[in-house]
Amino acid sequence: MYATVRKAMGEPDRVPLCLLPTPMHPLPRLSDELGIDLWIKRDDLNGFAFGGNKGRKLEYLMADVLARKAQVVVSCGATQSNHIRQLGAACARFGLRCEAVVMDLPYDAPSGRPLRAPRAEGGNVVLDEILGVKLHKIASGNWERLESETEKLASSLEDAGARVAQIALGGSSALGAYAFWRAAGEVGTDFDFLVTASSSGSTQCGLTYAYRGSKTRVLGIACDPEPQFADDVAELGRGLADLLGTNSMGAREFDVRHGWVGEGYGVGSEAGEAAIQKMARSEGVFLDPIYTGKAAAGLFELARTGEIWGKVLFWHTGGTPALFARETS
Ligand SMILES: *Cc1c(COP(=O)(O)O)cnc(C)c1O
Repeated sequence: MYATVRKAMGEPDRVPLCLLPTPMHPLPRLSDELGIDLWIKRDDLNGFAFGGNKGRKLEYLMADVLARKAQVVVSCGATQSNHIRQLGAACARFGLRCEAVVMDLPYDAPSGRPLRAPRAEGGNVVLDEILGVKLHKIASGNWERLESETEKLASSLEDAGARVAQIALGGSSALGAYAFWRAAGEVGTDFDFLVTASSSGSTQCGLTYAYRGSKTRVLGIACDPEPQFADDVAELGRGLADLLGTNSMGAREFDVRHGWVGEGYGVGSEAGEAAIQKMARSEGVFLDPIYTGKAAAGLFELARTGEIWGKVLFWHTGGTPALFARETS
């Protein structure tokens, strides 16, 4: 079975879910066009439940769930959450029940339904159903309400006698960040810049810790308009620093770029759509509308304006099932 592997003294336990290391390869046509040496890290191809960055986090998060002998795993996210799909698959592997509170958008769009909002069926929702994930849908609102409803669900399951483990939004906890601190070991230190989509923050957090003091600068392209983004990433980092037994980093040490969120979290953007097409038509690689398309849009523009240069790694964090939940016009 999936034995928990303990790497060394003091390291957190992990259960293998992904096929690691993920591939990494150059993007020659985009490199020519942008005048940089552009590479891509294929976490979309990690071999776990259609791929994506939550797989790495779940290797550590599920080891913790197993250690706590939970029977039901509870989490939350957007209706088209990649995190819930991968969590559902991880729970399936260990014979655990998975329940999640979801909402279409973490805000009430003042002018009605945004143009590029994904459909509430198709994509990840189809995969959740196949996996047997129980989705509890609430009306669109905000992250705080989503989290309080998730607490309520967890307590009601506990009251009914189940042993429940709660997993943070997007798998972003100290263990989630730890997974990306380790992931940097697959890449090495010869990149000038590393660009990733960033939302619940543990991907950017772990990578930034890993490259602290090296020449590689980690840029997170925000996919959520939260103005206090860097503070949240720094807060996660304090948990990671405790795990690593190192000093924590301040909010200003996390390079979060806010220019490519578009209308809001969870909906596509014009620049993101253009970047999805550019990546597909130049390199035959698919991105997603909610995260990686926006991150690539940021990368392309930063290369054009000369803010990033040299050898650049684009971390493909996955999300491609959302392409199958697009609003058809
Ligand atoms: C969750 C997710 C992200 C954001 O990663 P965080 O660690 O939550 O910041 C980026 N891309 C995809 C495809 C995701 O599903």
